[in-house]
Amino acid sequence: MSACRVIAVVNQKGGVGKTTTAVNLAACFGVSERTTLLIDLDPQGNASSAFGVSKPLHQVYDCLIGRMAIKDAVLPTELSSLDLLPAGPDLVGAEIELVTAEDRALHLDRALEDARNHYELIIIDCPPSLGILTLNALTAADSILIPLQCEYYALEGLARLMETRELIRASLNPKLELEGIVLTMVDLRNNLSRQVEAEVRQHFGNKVYRNRIPRNVRLS
Ligand code: ATP
Ligand code: MG
Repeated sequence: MSACRVIAVVNQKGGVGKTTTAVNLAACFGVSERTTLLIDLDPQGNASSAFGVSKPLHQVYDCLIGRMAIKDAVLPTELSSLDLLPAGPDLVGAEIELVTAEDRALHLDRALEDARNHYELIIIDCPPSLGILTLNALTAADSILIPLQCEYYALEGLARLMETRELIRASLNPKLELEGIVLTMVDLRNNLSRQVEAEVRQHFGNKVYRNRIPRNVRLS
């Protein structure tokens, strides 16, 4: 068994800090000299832009459809331990092209088979939906990391995400763990935010990281 850990950063709600979390986590692992691959699985390509990549020659789509091995499609970054598998515009089509294929949720898992032997950590930045791309990430991952913004509908979204995780565990990927929930863009002056946080902590206990990510203009 390889010692690689695949972590999907996921939340179907948009703008909650998935990409910021995925990029910074991958960079931290890279700085710690742990061999890391960041996969941009979002057609928006924000994680790729974070590394200055806009129109990549090869991209995650090529690997999803089995046209190319991950090792041939990755780009190096400033950090010698960190590689990036970028997203490009083709990825928009994957969501539609894969929808009828019987093995539609298994493409990323297959593509990762070989990459698992080359990296200690693989971080996947998911798009804001529970569509085919996210299902591929949940099927391939060892665990999910959920960035959560403490807002009114956050708990409903979280419940839906946990249901999806149970479905995947019951079928395609029994090993899928909850890595943890990280509270993002926290504003401690906000009353509602404190209430939501209390509820999330009550429900998920030590799966919620003690450290919160404060709202910070420099980070944005
Ligand atoms: P999407 O669902 O569209 O992929 P996302 O969940 O990946 O969004 P991000 O892109 O990481 O979310 O963050 C959304 C916006 O909030 C971005 O403009 C980002 O720069 C900003 N942002 C993220 N974290 C913080 C923070 N802690 N403080 C202030 N702004 C933040
Ligand atoms: Mg994003």
